[in-house]
Amino acid sequence: MDENSAMQIESGVSLKPYNTFGLPAVAQTLVRVQGDADVRRVVDHPELGLAPKFILGGGSNIVLTRDMPQVVLKVEVKGWRLVEERRDAYIVEGGAGETWHEFVKWTLDHGYPGLENLALIPGTVGAAPVQNIGAYGVELKDRFESLDAVDLVTGRSVTLGPTLCAFGYRSSVFKHALAGRSLITRVRLRLPKPWAPVLNYLELERKVMETGITRPSPHQVAEWICAIRRAKLPDPREIGNAGSFFKNPVVTPEQCRDIIGRDPEVVHYPMPDGTMKLAAGWMIDACGWKGKSVGQAAVYEKQALVLVNRGGAIGSEVMTLARAIQESVYGRFGIRLEPEPVVV
Ligand SMILES: Cc1cc2nc3c(=O)[nH]c(=O)nc-3n(C[C@H](O)[C@H](O)[C@H](O)COP(=O)(O)OP(=O)(O)OC[C@H]3O[C@@H](n4cnc5c(N)ncnc54)[C@H](O)[C@@H]3O)c2cc1C
Repeated sequence: MDENSAMQIESGVSLKPYNTFGLPAVAQTLVRVQGDADVRRVVDHPELGLAPKFILGGGSNIVLTRDMPQVVLKVEVKGWRLVEERRDAYIVEGGAGETWHEFVKWTLDHGYPGLENLALIPGTVGAAPVQNIGAYGVELKDRFESLDAVDLVTGRSVTLGPTLCAFGYRSSVFKHALAGRSLITRVRLRLPKPWAPVLNYLELERKVMETGITRPSPHQVAEWICAIRRAKLPDPREIGNAGSFFKNPVVTPEQCRDIIGRDPEVVHYPMPDGTMKLAAGWMIDACGWKGKSVGQAAVYEKQALVLVNRGGAIGSEVMTLARAIQESVYGRFGIRLEPEPVVV
């Protein structure tokens, strides 16, 4: 088989099974990418090369509002390995198309702990750096070593370290300067030795108290995390959603005082850099949104930060609901909520 015949170009592909919200949209053209060479074939292709492109991982952080004229590059780069054992860390690598949670399980089962607080986050390894995934006191950037990516204009492969990735709260260079420009193919993580559990999060502290286990194993922490997440978040296999729909706003202490002036009960947390993080879910709930809907798009009854598809919702319903929430939160608290998923 020559190099070009290996590339499969699919037309008119329904993306409904490929996004966890279960929103309908059709990709005019879809190409499955299994490695750097596949990306270069697309870049060098006489028609596809110049066409706009959209990179698709597990579809767990996107809102599809329309059919997609762009070439959808579905990332299916497989494999994981221990790259190196250093005196003070294990360096592990995952293919961008691997499921994040399966990768976390593999690291734990092979004795490379450090990702347990990020267990059960949906999506792929390749998308994890895009929004610097985070949960229960750990962010991807805390374990990040480097990644490989292919430039979608030049076809050149590059390796980027943490500085160039410019990680921030649910943000990185891949959401800004390199958005849609760089396709991540492999991610390497640095898992420090000796392992120490990260338990300074209210729900984890509660688990320690309930069980009396003060020195949990990495597997035990992962089990706790999975149980906490299952109790709180809707399973996308049962009810379509994209996790937290809005970012928690980060404000200055002065802005925070102003908001507390409007409502003394507003939930807020001091950040290490002196800023304050406000609980977006609390503000949405305070505006009375829990359970409200637009068409088949609704605010999840158990957690106001999550918007769900009650069955048959379309992207425009989700966005109409999101805008109405933004307006009412702005009206009451003077804060503009920013969506976390990528709206396409
Ligand atoms: C129930 C639920 C719970 C969640 N909980 C959390 C949580 O606790 N913490 C958290 O941070 N997130 C959470 N999320 C959001 C989501 O799981 C993460 O953002 C995840 O990393 C998205 O991965 P994905 O493969 O599905 O990306 P997609 O949704 O496919 O893509 C997201 C963005 O990344 C880009 N992208 C995807 N793959 C690549 C690649 N290989 N190279 C370059 N760009 C790429 C896409 O173009 C798009 O812009 C949750 C989502 C759900 C549904």
